[in-house]
Amino acid sequence: MKLLIMGRPGAGKGTQAVNIREYYNIPHISTGDMFRAAIKNQTKLGLEAKSYMDKGALVPDEVTIGIVEERLLAEDCKDGFLLDGFPRTIAQAEALDAFLKKNGIKLDAVLDVNVPQEILVRRMVGRRVCKNCGATFHVEFNAPKVEGICDNCGSPLIQRADDTEATAKNRLTVYDNQTAPLLEFYKKQNILKTVNGDQPLDKVFDDIKVVLGA
Ligand code: ADP
Ligand code: AMP
Repeated sequence: MKLLIMGRPGAGKGTQAVNIREYYNIPHISTGDMFRAAIKNQTKLGLEAKSYMDKGALVPDEVTIGIVEERLLAEDCKDGFLLDGFPRTIAQAEALDAFLKKNGIKLDAVLDVNVPQEILVRRMVGRRVCKNCGATFHVEFNAPKVEGICDNCGSPLIQRADDTEATAKNRLTVYDNQTAPLLEFYKKQNILKTVNGDQPLDKVFDDIKVVLGA
């Protein structure tokens, strides 16, 4: 399975990506996670990415395209992958298209997890992520068994620096302006599969399996 997962910030891409990764046994490649890891490791890439991420803006295309292409060439992506959070601009989508063609790779599907704008700020502001394993929770909608502690590994949960109300709102505007046009791009290629992301977590995943035909 060679897949992209799209959707507004907070739609549940990362949450469903974990299910998809396990079910189809493919690597989950999240550009947001790659940037956050670079920030944690205080690399040059991390320093540059942070200045954009803190504002809710996009990291420049040249930087982002390069790291994704390098990652897709790794051995574990040979039989499939799930790209999450990339592409986010027309330039990224065109670069990805050219890269896939050059390497003889065809996407099986582009999933669009559709969630109405109104509930997304609440989803982002209430999101909590594990410092250690990256698992995602929500204070109201997907609460951990013990408040502030990861169910998987017992490490503390933290709030992402860009999950403040103001930054979340800005990210939604950036999505509408720069990323939403990509849906049309993939619709024209006949590979866009939309699922309703405004449902309980398990139901969203059931619908994903249905649209992917397995
Ligand atoms: P994205 O990767 O699209 O930004 P996440 O997967 O991190 O989104 O989800 C954003 C927040 O919403 C998280 O706190 C997550 O636990 C919660 N969430 C995800 N899917 C659902 C859902 N179907 N219903 C309610 N809350 C959800
Ligand atoms: P995410 O984890 O997908 O919500 O992404 C968090 C932030 O990382 C975004 O708000 C951007 O600043 C940056 N980012 C992630 N993916 C991309 C991308 N494909 N292009 C540009 N910036 C990105």
